[in-house]
Amino acid sequence: MFDTLQDRLSTVFKGLRSKGRLTEADIDATMREIRIALLEADVNLGVVKEFVASVKAGALDSEVSKALNPSQQIIKIVNDELVSILGGEARTIRFAKRPPTVIMLAGLQGAGKTTLAGKLGKWLRDNKHAPLLVAADLQRPNAVNQLQIVGERAGVHVFAPEPGNGVGDPVDVARRAIAHAEAKLYDVVIVDTAGRLGVDQELMRQAANIKAAVEPDETLFVVDAMIGQDAVNTAKAFDEGVGVDGVVLTKLDGDARGGAALSIARVLGKPIMFASNGEGLSDFDMFHPDRMASRILGMGDMLTLIEQAEKTFDAEQSRAAAEKLMGKNQFGLQDFLSQMQQLRKMGPMSKILGMLPGAGQFKQAINEIDEKEIDRIEAIINAMTPKERDDVSILNGSRRARIAKGAGVQVSDVNKLVNRFVEARKMMESLAGGGMPGMPGMPGM
Ligand code: GDP
Repeated sequence: MFDTLQDRLSTVFKGLRSKGRLTEADIDATMREIRIALLEADVNLGVVKEFVASVKAGALDSEVSKALNPSQQIIKIVNDELVSILGGEARTIRFAKRPPTVIMLAGLQGAGKTTLAGKLGKWLRDNKHAPLLVAADLQRPNAVNQLQIVGERAGVHVFAPEPGNGVGDPVDVARRAIAHAEAKLYDVVIVDTAGRLGVDQELMRQAANIKAAVEPDETLFVVDAMIGQDAVNTAKAFDEGVGVDGVVLTKLDGDARGGAALSIARVLGKPIMFASNGEGLSDFDMFHPDRMASRILGMGDMLTLIEQAEKTFDAEQSRAAAEKLMGKNQFGLQDFLSQMQQLRKMGPMSKILGMLPGAGQFKQAINEIDEKEIDRIEAIINAMTPKERDDVSILNGSRRARIAKGAGVQVSDVNKLVNRFVEARKMMESLAGGGMPGMPGMPGM
């Protein structure tokens, strides 16, 4: 997602970087390029116009044109504007004062509602809630069964109509489910409703009826981000027909251009609350406009990475490594090795590295990461003495030859690892060195 936009914007900023000061003509040219970049990413035309106008107004501000480093100023303005069109502040579920909180999921067939019900259920359970999933999609023959499977995987109970009672009435099922939740002390009820292939009156009527019966605290519109501009139109139709409180974007792991994600919050005036980025139950998170903007601008998503790491990492060891990165002690290859071993517990390297600042520039390399290569890196570090791991500067030719032999690799492999490590450490140190997070000293900018 957002690959083309990232590439385009980084070219725009690179061009700016070579300029000392910006003339109005430079700013105009930059705005044209940003406009093309957004349109190519399939962002809604109205949103693009508004975006460019705001960025331009900011850029023409005398402070910016006089600044010594105009490219960073413009990146900051673009960043702020991206955060704003993505909805500003992150917003999560508003829980009802009197449980159960009722969440209704609406959207087209295939949008990912059922999968989302499981993800949301697991997320709520992890956050100490007692959720109940409700199968109110009685349209598709297999939908109830599918929700039961998802619920089982997520460890969340499912309320479903008894089999053999004919097609059943979704409104009635939803109503009974709420009564059941009250009696059994579930504090959140997630109602999965039926979708259709396209927007039609019957679909809206049914969704509106369920909504009227269960009076949800949150009606979430679930939409497949890969369907592009149609996502925005469908969202509008649902908002008019049923009324929605927030949006959930699914399939952000797809390689679409991402325009839907960038337009929907602004066009609807409703927040994107969650994002789904894979078929697994944990491929799901709250949507943070600021983090998404950083990711689009190639500044990485360190916060999400840190949060995931906190779930996996040994706290003591992580703190020690972080302190080293902040410069209290030199970060060495031994630290790198233990961090890497812990990282591998978090999932495939390509996914993790993709969240690092500057990752956009190494996209191809990241996609081509071969887990065997990581085994090789481990072997090389293991072949070093503790002293060598602490201080790579002592690695002369004969030491490198010995290490290569010990690890069963070429000396060039050892050189490559050491050089990359030194580069990476420089990048991390410049990031840790304060200022605007991730901006000054950003590689390649
Ligand atoms: P529903 O008809 O709205 O209930 O949609 P489903 O939950 O059945 O999802 C439709 C398909 O999309 C299924 O094959 C899901 O596995 C898949 N899916 C759902 N969410 C995601 C996602 O975030 N990423 C990817 N790649 N696939 C997803």
